[in-house]
Amino acid sequence: MHTRLAFTLAVLLTTSASAQQSSMAGYAPGDAAREHALEADAVARPSAVESESLSRHLSAETHVAGTPAQARTRDYVIAQMKRWGIDTEVRTYDVWMPHPTSVHVSRVSPNPRTFALAEPPVAGDQTSSLAQYPTVNGYSGQGDATGQVVYVNYGLIEDYAQLDSMGISVNGKIAIARYGRSYRGIKAREAEKHGAIALLIYSDPQDDGYDVGDVYPKGPMRNSAGVQRGSILNPDGDPSTPGYPSNPGVPRLTPAQMPISHIPVVPISYGNASELLEYIDGPGVPRGWQGGLPFHYHVGPGPVTARVAVTDDRATRAIKPIYDTFGIVRGSEFPDELVIIGGHRDAWGPGAADNVSGTVSVLEAARAVAEELKAGKRPKRTIIFATWDAEEWGLLGSTEFVEDDSLRLSRDAVAYLNQDVAAQGVMFGGGGSPSLRPTLRDIARLVPDPDGKGSVYAQWRRERAIPDTAEPEMGDPGGGSDFAGFYNHLGIPIPEWSFGGPGGVYHSQYDSYHWMSTFGDPGYRYHAAAASIGAALVLRLANADVLPYDYVEYARTMRQYLAPIDAKVAAKHWSAPTADLRAAIDHLEHQAAAFNAARDSALAGSVAPAKLAAANQSLLRVERALTRPEGLRTRPWFRNLIYVADENNGYANMALPSINEAIRANDEALTRSEIADLASRFNQAARAVADAQAALGGG
Ligand SMILES: [Zn+2]
Repeated sequence: MHTRLAFTLAVLLTTSASAQQSSMAGYAPGDAAREHALEADAVARPSAVESESLSRHLSAETHVAGTPAQARTRDYVIAQMKRWGIDTEVRTYDVWMPHPTSVHVSRVSPNPRTFALAEPPVAGDQTSSLAQYPTVNGYSGQGDATGQVVYVNYGLIEDYAQLDSMGISVNGKIAIARYGRSYRGIKAREAEKHGAIALLIYSDPQDDGYDVGDVYPKGPMRNSAGVQRGSILNPDGDPSTPGYPSNPGVPRLTPAQMPISHIPVVPISYGNASELLEYIDGPGVPRGWQGGLPFHYHVGPGPVTARVAVTDDRATRAIKPIYDTFGIVRGSEFPDELVIIGGHRDAWGPGAADNVSGTVSVLEAARAVAEELKAGKRPKRTIIFATWDAEEWGLLGSTEFVEDDSLRLSRDAVAYLNQDVAAQGVMFGGGGSPSLRPTLRDIARLVPDPDGKGSVYAQWRRERAIPDTAEPEMGDPGGGSDFAGFYNHLGIPIPEWSFGGPGGVYHSQYDSYHWMSTFGDPGYRYHAAAASIGAALVLRLANADVLPYDYVEYARTMRQYLAPIDAKVAAKHWSAPTADLRAAIDHLEHQAAAFNAARDSALAGSVAPAKLAAANQSLLRVERALTRPEGLRTRPWFRNLIYVADENNGYANMALPSINEAIRANDEALTRSEIADLASRFNQAARAVADAQAALGGG
């Protein structure tokens, strides 16, 4: 999986971009000068040559979670960390994760034909001829289904509504959906809900194939045999241990109790899909449903009949060990405060982009910090360099870790920095919690653009044609990557960033060293640049005198979400005023502005270390105040009330979900009470900022 950043309105700032460069938020002037020098040094350490070598080793074979090959990446990563002098730790969790033992897709009539499902070798790509993972979606059901085929477009909720209006049902049929527009787990959930006996999900050439560009190996896009594997699990983490870690001996749900698919779900190429779609008859497709294959699409049902069969090892070997790795650089002054950077180490194939590139970024950042350590520059706070296992199956490794260590993380984690598909092109994108966006932009100013066009930040502005009065748009935390446990479950601030590009080999055997070296990042300079950002950012957060969260930008970002709520409430003729919530957000902004001024003047003089420590402890509580223990009403594990992945999409982001889900549920009283609840939490957040200010100034 990798996250889709959901973009909202650009944040208009009252200060110009250049005016912000003069000082370093959260640092006393002398400390800022030292930190500048340290970061400049660290930024220069990640190298394209090292990145290329790490990438080649880590993408040498398909390394799916739960396989011996994936245990080898654990050993490789630990060996690198040790080589650089970093303390290491491995945590093992035993998770319910069946692996397929057979998969079959055939056309039964007309013209019976069994499809070749594996992705064939490609000239020049060495790993394309090695063993590959079966083309079965993670957490597919087992089964052997034969039936007529119905084309369901993207398989979204609204697509089934459209089919209903046409009098067409998938009940007892095999649904075929194209990838895109939502997380595939939602497609599987909806197909099963509507009575489908199996689901095929294919990659339409319109979405990431020849309609977009030349196909692999001539170009970067998906060829007619390319397959997008991927999980269809909807909850986060091991589905047999919801909300608690998968440690030895814990009680587990039975498969019948887990929210998993009960029908076979199989991803196929457009080469194979066209052999079914071309034979579907019945009504022509509605507007917008036509894909890129060279014939007119029909909805069905049938007359083409298919068979889809999947078996797996759940009866004999369902529980498998997964391994998270940690490199730990202990802080000199505040060893209990944690700055964590991580990326997932598992993949569906060789995984050069997803997520060897993120793993390499984490490793090269670790090497940079390790070299600073050897030069005697130990960070003040503890920095943890993590690689997660089984992210691709549903964020298992990071979720089990967060559930295992939730008390310590809730109390002490300063930030979690996520690296998923860190480099597969040249287009910079960044996002995460609004509180850390100014710091991320600041770091992007320090890192040279790999193509020599000034800084990453300057090139970012140029690419997006940003006017001088604004900052580049940044993505909100949506869903689909390892930040979820940290952010959605515990309210820990997260930044993330990446260099994006063509995504035509996503979750394919062709996401390989050859693809990356030819199309994604031929010089591995963008891998190194992603790592430079990581190295500087972990140091910035680890060494700050006062943690550089910006709750002014945070509050301004939040205010943008009120007008759409007001509009929806007005359209329903409800009485659910947001005035109290608006006042609470205003209060947070004013309090944060006062704090920033007090912080800067305190740091310009001399402040007792104990006061700084107390202020930082209060700052760690600000975003925690915007979570609630009982979570969202739809999903109790999701405690953060600011952003969440839309439960009807999975990739798209929903802001202020407790309120927006109440509106979607058409519940006026609940909407009112959720607005009041969130207003009181914003007031608590503002109080934590006020406590931080009092700590700085108090006797
Ligand atoms: Zn990924």
